[in-house]
Amino acid sequence: MENNSTLKHRIMTVDLENDLRSERSVSIDVALPKLLNFFDDHKIKTTFFTVTKLWKNYESELKEISKKHELASHSHTHTVLNQWNAEFEIKTSMQKMKEYGVKCSGFRAPRFVPAADYFSYLKKHGYTYDSSLATYFPGRYKHLDLPQKPFLNKGIVEFPIPTLLHPSINAGLSYLKLMHPASKLFNPRYLFYMHPWELLERKQLQKINKERPAVIPSLIPALLKRNSGKKAWEILEDYLFKEEGKWIGCRDWLERQKERQRKRQEKEAKVNGQLHF
Ligand SMILES: [Zn+2]
Repeated sequence: MENNSTLKHRIMTVDLENDLRSERSVSIDVALPKLLNFFDDHKIKTTFFTVTKLWKNYESELKEISKKHELASHSHTHTVLNQWNAEFEIKTSMQKMKEYGVKCSGFRAPRFVPAADYFSYLKKHGYTYDSSLATYFPGRYKHLDLPQKPFLNKGIVEFPIPTLLHPSINAGLSYLKLMHPASKLFNPRYLFYMHPWELLERKQLQKINKERPAVIPSLIPALLKRNSGKKAWEILEDYLFKEEGKWIGCRDWLERQKERQRKRQEKEAKVNGQLHF
């Protein structure tokens, strides 16, 4: 029997959205079922940050996922947030989750870009945690002194994206694939993020990439060429189990923290009680 109290618990997160910012969702049809089996086989619980417009076409799949894992929001349409659309995206995705009977506590901003008044909108619409702050992306943001662990920010628990290599290599499957085999040196961080499309075969990825509208230069072309398909699965598995531990979702992680705190307080109260008598 494994001893739960000594095992390290890390956080697994998956962003559920269309492939490569296209209108296609091949990865949800093809890679997601395999990923769910992989999670079952390895007893991994996950937070799926879900673009809620997917409910329209994937209701039964999402309901099924929510029985074992946690669903949180990754906005309603996956448009990058700005001062005009942020509240709409935050509010609508919460409404959609409620409409489909799913309890939603967390949010991840598309492309890790929060907008002005972002945290007050999260609070206003009933979210308790966020996982959108990353240290550095060229041309997007710099938060170089971001903690590498969860912290309380304006009344919302923040799960920042940890780095594999400070400041610009985030703990995500994209980077493990891109930097493989050098990435074998990295030990698992407290949180990991990935997308099902990162597990597609190279041919599938190239096909989707051709069809999608040209966007500003990004990592995507480089990602298509390296370590796709079977190799991607191997890289994922090696990294996740390089060190002993369990992978769980954000909400479960928070519940565990609360429980630990409660026990600690109970113990302290006992000790204090003994001192008094
Ligand atoms: Zn996304």
